[in-house]
Amino acid sequence: MKLAPFRYHQPSTQVEALELLGSLGDNAKVLAGGQSLLPMMAYRLATPTDLVDIGRIPELRGWDLDDSGLRIRAMARQRQIELDPDIGLRFPVMHHALAKVAHVQIRNRGTVCGSLAHADSAAELPTLMVALDSTFVVANAQGRRRVAAPDFFKFHFTTAVEAGELLAEVFIPDPGPGQHAAFMEVSRRKGDFAVVGAAVVVDIEDGHVKGARVVCSGVAPTPYVVAAAEEAIVGGELRDSTLLDAQYATSRSVDPPDDFHADSEYRKHLAGVLVRRCLDQIRSNQGARSA
Ligand SMILES: Cc1cc2nc3c(=O)[nH]c(=O)nc-3n(C[C@H](O)[C@H](O)[C@H](O)COP(=O)(O)OP(=O)(O)OC[C@H]3O[C@@H](n4cnc5c(N)ncnc54)[C@H](O)[C@@H]3O)c2cc1C
Repeated sequence: MKLAPFRYHQPSTQVEALELLGSLGDNAKVLAGGQSLLPMMAYRLATPTDLVDIGRIPELRGWDLDDSGLRIRAMARQRQIELDPDIGLRFPVMHHALAKVAHVQIRNRGTVCGSLAHADSAAELPTLMVALDSTFVVANAQGRRRVAAPDFFKFHFTTAVEAGELLAEVFIPDPGPGQHAAFMEVSRRKGDFAVVGAAVVVDIEDGHVKGARVVCSGVAPTPYVVAAAEEAIVGGELRDSTLLDAQYATSRSVDPPDDFHADSEYRKHLAGVLVRRCLDQIRSNQGARSA
């Protein structure tokens, strides 16, 4: 279907973009990679009167990787982050999760921040960012504010970014030597949105789990933190019985609705199995590293 008419703006600085967004208000949308927004406009699910294209703003491109962590700016493409070898070494889980986002052609255009701002409850990156304890930097014409990942996602397709604002960057803290992470999902076909996904991050010291974050997608309107699974893991070693405890704790905790793709019971089962498999993968990788 043809897009409804809209006005197109192409600011060349961040200040200009924020002034535009501030003056245009509710009916304007940021255009990043366009891989979600343009299909939504084609289906008339979104009918913004103004698009503010941030693709020509130099200071919103790229990323910084240093001792403190990884800072991904608004226009860094998903594929750039997926393929960067230094990011792959420090955050291998990012590579694995990004490889599951849509198809290469979409990741070539789609941005990491665009996926986070879009906040599809089945998407990989929001769930991963919550598990990795990320911080979001939201900018408006008056300044910037930092939002912790669990507070950023409010509901289906709804975040802490208000009208007149943009997500300028996301910061992922350095994992440190004891941190291990895994991401897994089940989707009907390669490249489809997942039915359910799981991101697990654990901090291990002397073989014992000191901290854990277990987050699932596809089971709630926002990335779902499975506190009961985290409790099952922290304090001990990653034994088979612990992995099973985490699996059952997850299946008991989540309460997904039935929908066209899967019923609630199946999603509960998947969430538990994926959490157990993530832990199993972490255990194997850890064994391989210490061998
Ligand atoms: C066929 C297909 C399959 C897909 N499969 C998957 C999948 O399996 N998993 C997955 O996660 N995604 C999937 N996607 C979506 C894809 O990852 C998008 O690239 C991503 O969701 C949006 O990124 P974008 O840069 O293209 O954003 P846009 O499409 O440009 O924008 C999306 C929304 O976010 C807003 N926005 C974008 N950037 C910012 C910003 N910096 N600040 C504030 N608001 C902003 C826009 O205003 C808009 O509302 C798929 C898309 C297609 C077309």
